[in-house]
Amino acid sequence: MAIAAAAALAPMAVAAGPCPGHPDALGTERVLAVDATSTPRVGRKSFPDTLPLQRKELVLTFDDGPWPGTTPKVLDALKNECVRATFFLLGRNVAANPAIARRELAEGHSLGHHTFSHPLLSRMAAARAEAEIDRGIAQDEFALTGQRRSDPGTPFFQFPGFASNRALLDRLQARHIVVFGADVWASDWVAMSPQQEVMLIIGRIERAGSGIVLFHDTKAQTAAMLPAFLRELKRRGYSIVHVVPAGNRGNSN
Ligand SMILES: [Zn+2]
Repeated sequence: MAIAAAAALAPMAVAAGPCPGHPDALGTERVLAVDATSTPRVGRKSFPDTLPLQRKELVLTFDDGPWPGTTPKVLDALKNECVRATFFLLGRNVAANPAIARRELAEGHSLGHHTFSHPLLSRMAAARAEAEIDRGIAQDEFALTGQRRSDPGTPFFQFPGFASNRALLDRLQARHIVVFGADVWASDWVAMSPQQEVMLIIGRIERAGSGIVLFHDTKAQTAAMLPAFLRELKRRGYSIVHVVPAGNRGNSN
């Protein structure tokens, strides 16, 4: 009883509740707090380790937005299934579309960072690369909170093109910012039909069994396939895990 009462008071516990108007929704099974001390870097496409997920548990991530036309469709599909995801924001797109970023926040998603203008940071001088990271964070935070700060509310970062280097990884770890990679991706930078993309990503997820799944909410084919993809996950018995920053310093509301 005490445990149930404590869970009811936790701000994110509502994620596991019923989905209004959609009793058969995929839903969000649980919330996983992630912190840079225990998991500074996650995603086996780039790093040795990933998040502590059980079999058939998936974390959904979307890069490069927000983008008009596609991101609102992605948000509609997630809302319809009561699924919470993580968006890695591109500062210049947030500057152009701040209302969409604020909608992502208002609908309970986690908002990480992905630089201002998407350069390959591994090829830049460390100081310039970090300035690009901070410019993105400051733009994102300004749209979300009204403050241009380089200390992100949600300390999650993803390198454009997964192009990291040791100096930048060390620097982000020192700042307690978790670097996200992916375990599975949809290759949605390659043109294909929404139906082809669903088949491709479901096949890869079935082989991986669990993990962090990477999409781009800037891609029309991804926005189009998302409703069918989420239905297929439900049919196949997958569960969605929502990652939030440890210590509740994040954007969750
Ligand atoms: Zn990207």
